[in-house]
Amino acid sequence: MLQATQTVIEQALLSLGYGKEMVDLLREPMRMMTVRIPVRMDDGSTQVFTGFRAQHNDAAGPTKGGVRFHPGVTAEEVKALSIWMTLKCGIADLPYGGGKGGVICDPRRMSFRELERLSRGYVRAISQIVGPTKDIPAPDVMTNSQIMAWMMDEYSRIREFDSPGFITGKPLVLGGSHGRETATARGVTIMIEEALAASGIPLQGARIAVQGFGNAGSFLAKFMHEAGAKVVGISDVHGALHDPEGLDIPHLLDRRDSFGAVTNLFKDTLSNEELLELECDVLVPAAIENQITAANAARIKAKTIVEAANGPTTLEATHMLHDRGVLLVPDVLASAGGVIVSYFEWVQNNQGYYWTEREVDDKLRAMMVRGFRDVYELHRTRRVDMRLAAYMAGVRKTAEAVRYRGWV
Ligand code: GLU
Repeated sequence: MLQATQTVIEQALLSLGYGKEMVDLLREPMRMMTVRIPVRMDDGSTQVFTGFRAQHNDAAGPTKGGVRFHPGVTAEEVKALSIWMTLKCGIADLPYGGGKGGVICDPRRMSFRELERLSRGYVRAISQIVGPTKDIPAPDVMTNSQIMAWMMDEYSRIREFDSPGFITGKPLVLGGSHGRETATARGVTIMIEEALAASGIPLQGARIAVQGFGNAGSFLAKFMHEAGAKVVGISDVHGALHDPEGLDIPHLLDRRDSFGAVTNLFKDTLSNEELLELECDVLVPAAIENQITAANAARIKAKTIVEAANGPTTLEATHMLHDRGVLLVPDVLASAGGVIVSYFEWVQNNQGYYWTEREVDDKLRAMMVRGFRDVYELHRTRRVDMRLAAYMAGVRKTAEAVRYRGWV
């Protein structure tokens, strides 16, 4: 993942006319902290967890990005994800560089109190390098507004002042923003509208398959259903459901558990692999990395793919899809809605003045549409695939900031 990211970063910088030194600086995070976090478990024992925080580059502003709690977290993955955050912030023209954090753990096997102690321990461990003007964390895979609340509380105890701007994705009563919870899915919805418009297909009646029923996938299925599209497939960790006439999304949302599982309640299921190959107009991978690879890319029937997850398609598969004329809206563009509304949350915290949901949604739409058009334009005029176009649009701001500062 890191290696593939570095390959495209290099291509993007060279195509933009930057030299080897810039590539050398931006191919790795400028800072990577590894921490060990002792946590007292409910049974009285102590378990030591490993966590990371990567800061890619802060030339354009403080670094920004989520923290994931997942058993599969690795240092390499966190580094790649921090570079992707630079790209998302660059495409949306936010005054940030990219950051990312992760802790190797399985929240599904931990109690509420154990999770609280782990969240607070992680903040204590990284407190020296984060802060509202340095590096601003947020939710990511299996972390939520409650975890952000504990982290913010811990940080305000260490710094001895109330600091809502330290972290985003907070509950509303603690300085969260309207529209943050649904932001990624709203952004993906806007990207589906733009991509379908570019191909001349109406959203009304379009067939959509969504892989993953977590924060992004479940809200997206809801918005698509409300917009009159047909959600023909959804999936979660256990499997997938399929109905060519469109699934009853409100019913499925109702029965979903807190980690997004619902397919385990049904007998007639498909596998996640089969979901990707369904007959549909738009495929939305909204789960985890490396789902569309050289092994299955040729069997994907969708003409439009909108990546709501981070890194669902490998580089090889990206090239295969591009050659077949599939329009792929890459993750660093399609899933930028989350960090855009995080930026709005941080601005509101800094001002102490809060916006309505309508204001947030309108501003989000304007930024996402501009991002899509920038990337699409580069894709058309420079004749490059959509991923390289997104990397070019995304890395430009940080590279320019680095040059103005005289670092390279
Ligand atoms: N974790 C989200 C992402 O990967 C959001 C980051 C943020 O809001 O800072 O884009």
